[in-house]
Amino acid sequence: MGRTHALTGATVFAAAAPAVAQIVHLTPLEIGLGVAATAGFAVLPDIDHQNSGVTMTFGPATRMFSALVRWLSGGHRNGTHSFLGVAVVTFAAFGGNAAYSGDVMWLVVGAVLAMLLIALGYVTALTDTGEGRGAPAYKKPWHGPAALATTAGLAAVFTAAAKVYGDVAGKAVLAALLVLALASLIRLWHIRGLLDDIAPLPITWALMHFHVDLRVVPVATMLGALTHIAGDMVTPGGCPLGWPWSQTMRGVDLIEVNGEAENGPVYFGFTAALAAAMLLSFGPWGLTVAVLPLLAPRPKRRDGNRGDRKPRRGRGRARR
Ligand SMILES: [Zn+2]
Repeated sequence: MGRTHALTGATVFAAAAPAVAQIVHLTPLEIGLGVAATAGFAVLPDIDHQNSGVTMTFGPATRMFSALVRWLSGGHRNGTHSFLGVAVVTFAAFGGNAAYSGDVMWLVVGAVLAMLLIALGYVTALTDTGEGRGAPAYKKPWHGPAALATTAGLAAVFTAAAKVYGDVAGKAVLAALLVLALASLIRLWHIRGLLDDIAPLPITWALMHFHVDLRVVPVATMLGALTHIAGDMVTPGGCPLGWPWSQTMRGVDLIEVNGEAENGPVYFGFTAALAAAMLLSFGPWGLTVAVLPLLAPRPKRRDGNRGDRKPRRGRGRARR
């Protein structure tokens, strides 16, 4: 359901833009970048799946990164699909923008948002009655603490690198996030050849080389990740919002992954909503954006992630 995730992410940013523009001035470039980035970040959480588009982008490099994420987060639809997962990626993006813009305020805001998200995850876990669906995220009990320790270690390495190498480490994190988000988005059009794989690199380089204000990117990161989770929550699988404190999958079983409803009324409804929102920001030219989702090929049934189906009780969910 990659293209649906991207479309809903784009729609969320486009719909919020006219209201936000009343408070903070947004240039047309910023609105466009925000829509594209939110779309990309709304696909990115599925980097925890070994067959997702973004996992394949840079061959062994992204496959190894996906394997690391999968191990740290306990498999597909676990850590990256929780409030804690959104907190980690939000803090990374806000911290990266603090280094890029030279304004430490971004780091403070990122830390506050991350703490709020972690608190939300913890409170969600407290409401766990133990009767929900879901399976343990980690195959062996020690995997969880080991993953936590590895994450803390990686964070310490990056903090030390940021201290030693000034803001280069922060900018590298922001650039990596942008490349991954753009790769997630561009791959949805199934362009032949290497163009779709390589395109994110020059785009990210140009944005950062010409010092384009990237303040919409951290916001897009958080919005995109939350939109992805909301989307997965209306499928049979659900999302473990309170991970790692609770393994219970939350959500309502409304639409089948890659089913007729998702690719029919849901997809065309959101395309119309995106076009309407872009009309408000860009005038009649905004309507042309609606062509892009319609050009993204419909995913084949076999593309459906096994982990997106209803988990069976007592059996590992994330074996694929
Ligand atoms: Zn997902």
